[in-house]
Amino acid sequence: MTALSLRGMSKRFGSLAAVDDVSIEIPAGCFVCLLGPSGCGKTTLLRLIAGLEEPSGGSLHAGGREITTLASNRRDFGMVFQSLALFPHLDVADNIAYPLAIRGHGRRARMDRVAALLELVQLPGLGARRIHQLSGGQRQRVAIARGLAIDPKVFLLDEPLSALDANLREHMQVELRQLQQRLGVTTLVVTHDQKEALTMADLVIVMNEGKVQQAGAPMEIYRDPANAFVAGFIGQSNLLPCTLESDGSVDLGGTRLALDPQDRVKTRPGPAMLSIRPEDLRPDPQGPITARVAFIRDLGESVQIALDFGETRLQAVFAPRERPAVAIGDALRLAPAPGGIVVLAPPEAPA
Ligand code: ATP
Repeated sequence: MTALSLRGMSKRFGSLAAVDDVSIEIPAGCFVCLLGPSGCGKTTLLRLIAGLEEPSGGSLHAGGREITTLASNRRDFGMVFQSLALFPHLDVADNIAYPLAIRGHGRRARMDRVAALLELVQLPGLGARRIHQLSGGQRQRVAIARGLAIDPKVFLLDEPLSALDANLREHMQVELRQLQQRLGVTTLVVTHDQKEALTMADLVIVMNEGKVQQAGAPMEIYRDPANAFVAGFIGQSNLLPCTLESDGSVDLGGTRLALDPQDRVKTRPGPAMLSIRPEDLRPDPQGPITARVAFIRDLGESVQIALDFGETRLQAVFAPRERPAVAIGDALRLAPAPGGIVVLAPPEAPA
């Protein structure tokens, strides 16, 4: 069942198309991450869905009903803002109960719901606290509980974890995902952090310049990027300008690579962009790529080696046991792992 359906949604601010003809179907119960660089239109898209922004074009449907112009407070969507927007003059319980109070729920019903929500977000007994008496992670949980108070049909969160330090953020990513799975609520989270998206999402929607670049399961986006933007934005792909020959091989400035049947070719013969992940470059004495070791980062769990290949800096990563015996300045021969290459259309020249 489709929970949300966006058809040709656009939002213009003057001459800027902040959201440009976005069409997406979001299945019920799905955890969606809207991912993209700063200014790509993620927040604007979320605000369009929330009804906090009026679209310049397109339509929005929820549960089969058109809601394009329905007032925000009648959509029954929960929202967590980047700033959290908690009320400092109210205690935790009244913050969480606020959406219920403005909908006219009685005090008894509100307090029962607050107690259940505090359990849910693992803050039992903290209802009487003031917001300034909470840690960053606890505030986050209060904002999440408030967003869930009305038992929303759709839960919308704008960079909910961005203010937290790295450890707490990773912990909360797992917690938020588990909470969503338990409740089964259709959830959309805006993030610019690709690891966060890969950790939490069933469906990742990658945006750039107001447009959807690709929508798919995390591993589909990682393994099979639709274009050079997605390949470069998700994970650290090595992107090499190349020529796709009509015999199906690839020319890398004089180095010929025969493609494996599992490699993916997404463009026509001619100038192209080869994408290969650092973990897909394997040491191989007969390998077609010879590159010079520029830097070695030994991280214990893995070894990252930066290599110079002509004008291009390549990144390769090896498990400690596979670490090639090389030092800075040595030449290293590499072969792509079968299926590790994606040949993409070259990025468009900037206008
Ligand atoms: P960030 O990750 O930095 O929050 P974002 O991807 O969420 O970025 P948006 O906030 O949606 O991006 O903004 C998209 C574009 O629209 C930006 O160029 C922004 O400057 C512009 N924009 C957003 N809101 C307005 C507004 N109210 N008036 C004019 N321009 C706006």
